[in-house]
Amino acid sequence: MTITYSIIAPIFNELENISALWQRVSQVMESTGETWELILVDDGCTDGSTERIRELAKLDSRVKPVIFARNFGHQIAVTAGLDYARGRAVVIIDADLQDPPEVILELAAKWKEGYEVVYAVRAEREGESWFKLATASLFYRLIYRITDVKIPLDTGDFRLIDRKVVAVMNSMREKHRFLRGMSAWIGFKQIGVEYKRAARVAGVTKYPLKKMFKLALNAITGFSYFPLQVATYVGFIAAGLAIVAIPLVAALRLAGSHFFEGQTTTLISVLFLGGVQLISLGVLGEYIGRIYDEVKGRPLYVVSDAPERVAQDE
Ligand code: UDP
Ligand code: MG
Repeated sequence: MTITYSIIAPIFNELENISALWQRVSQVMESTGETWELILVDDGCTDGSTERIRELAKLDSRVKPVIFARNFGHQIAVTAGLDYARGRAVVIIDADLQDPPEVILELAAKWKEGYEVVYAVRAEREGESWFKLATASLFYRLIYRITDVKIPLDTGDFRLIDRKVVAVMNSMREKHRFLRGMSAWIGFKQIGVEYKRAARVAGVTKYPLKKMFKLALNAITGFSYFPLQVATYVGFIAAGLAIVAIPLVAALRLAGSHFFEGQTTTLISVLFLGGVQLISLGVLGEYIGRIYDEVKGRPLYVVSDAPERVAQDE
């Protein structure tokens, strides 16, 4: 039997949300009258979510559990969902119900019109701190400015992707993943649908600042060389300044001026250039670390339990 919709929800300690998610997704998907499956990816939960996922799978054969051996992170959990999904259209959704399952119907309508990627745009956000809103807004705009792919503003991973695009995504096995960027990079016919992002139903965010920062770094390094080029720009500026400054200071000295005497100026310029060089080294390190991870060729994730993978080439 072919499945029309696969819904993927990554789960990291969302015990209070899983049943509600299943209920709301079931309700919405039943109304389409089409076949569907709900892939719950357990990203190393430690709060009993794993057992709840298994219970649900026993109760409802449309629920497919993919259980990770440990926490691999949100983007990797979604990747596993994409690997196991069998639907002709795949929907990525958060497990905390911040992305209302009802919006899936709007995404599906656009898919039926022929769009291959339908991403949900956060027109409004509820129940999030000003800090989260400000950093998220800055993040989207920064990524938009410096990356080579035009990743739509204010969109998360909540989206519907056609099987054609999923197949390409599944063939991109890069280790440091930024799925929104990857789906923008792939192309095809894409469109956004606005929605109101709700507050979390229960629990707290599993995306502390550190994880957001990591995601931002993956987005930037994954889709741009800009940080590497900054070193070149700063180098040229510093060299340019020196070329002007050297004859200037020499001339002043010859004229008997007491400007630029003493160690302060020397110290400041040494500190400044030392700082610039260390930062540039750090930037290089970020890219080299990523090359190292690619070269090792480890699998993206390890599952302790999952349904059988099926060929997805129909
Ligand atoms: N998540 C995950 N692994 C992680 C962190 C988060 O699978 O390491 C899941 C989490 O359970 C949720 C989704 O990713 O379903 C989005 O996370 P969260 O709601 O905490 O992020 P926020 O909405 O606060 O940005
Ligand atoms: Mg959330």
